[in-house]
Amino acid sequence: MNCWHCDRPAHGTCIFCGRAVCREHAQEMPHIVALYHDTKGIHKAVVTAKALFCGVCEPREDPVEMPELK
Ligand SMILES: [Zn+2]
Ligand SMILES: [Zn+2]
Repeated sequence: MNCWHCDRPAHGTCIFCGRAVCREHAQEMPHIVALYHDTKGIHKAVVTAKALFCGVCEPREDPVEMPELK
């Protein structure tokens, strides 16, 4: 697979959209790994600070609301 930006061999893939990017074009972006409620019902998130990001797909800073899963 080649880099989305420059068509050279890629070093990894964007964690958000799956595009391949080389080291030169890879960017870093915090990535929410998991969301959960604590015992008081407060939303909490597990975040990785430097996930691989392609620079194209513009992930939202805040997670989108979803219907509660039961
Ligand atoms: Zn590239
Ligand atoms: Zn992406």
